[in-house]
Amino acid sequence: MSEWNNPSTSNNLENPNLSTFNTEGENSQNLPADNPPADRSYSIIDPIWETLDPNPDPQILYNQFNKIIFGGTLPTVDVKWSNRMTRSTGVCYHSLNKSGDCIGCRIRLSKKILELRRRKDMVESLLHEMIHVLLCSTNNMDPGDDHGPNFRLTMEVFNNSFGTNITISHTFYEEVEAVKRHWWECDGPCQNVVKRATNRAPSSKERWFREHEQTCGGSFIKTSEPEGPARKRRRT
Ligand SMILES: [Zn+2]
Ligand SMILES: [Zn+2]
Ligand SMILES: [Zn+2]
Repeated sequence: MSEWNNPSTSNNLENPNLSTFNTEGENSQNLPADNPPADRSYSIIDPIWETLDPNPDPQILYNQFNKIIFGGTLPTVDVKWSNRMTRSTGVCYHSLNKSGDCIGCRIRLSKKILELRRRKDMVESLLHEMIHVLLCSTNNMDPGDDHGPNFRLTMEVFNNSFGTNITISHTFYEEVEAVKRHWWECDGPCQNVVKRATNRAPSSKERWFREHEQTCGGSFIKTSEPEGPARKRRRT
């Protein structure tokens, strides 16, 4: 849509490195921003990128990868960080028309999970979603947009060509756990701990809650907050 007319985006497409070089980085003194090396001289997952461009803009990266890796064949796709997504590293949404054909993919990447990781993990998560876009736009989607044979084959070609480690998983288990910083502990006999990424206290709106009321009867007390353990005084 309008991305292609956006001056900053089109500039980045023509000069993929210009905006992404961190000239203050230690390793970049020989790489002035007005004379960047050709992007093709480094693998897309070369460790040097962790220093040169540790926090890439996902939209700019999508446009670069589309140009460099996919020869510009992928459609224009809106790619953004999601601050809310905490269960998955990324997602590719498809907007369908009445006959069920995709009329535009969108990619969202989990800021909360990926900001804890290396750049390489963000790149591989983005490429995972870009494979979904490729399969969608070429009408090769596996049934249900699943990680079926077409996805796996494409993924293997990528991993073999670029030395990446794209997987069929949308999660990094530890990080998904790590972002669950809100804890509630049952003060009843079961002493269960409920851990969540968002401040959503256990409530009767949840299916298991009533059963817990009947079998245990305890109350869930907030015991941990993102700003470090905040042991709340229990009402007695
Ligand atoms: Zn699609
Ligand atoms: Zn997937
Ligand atoms: Zn309990």
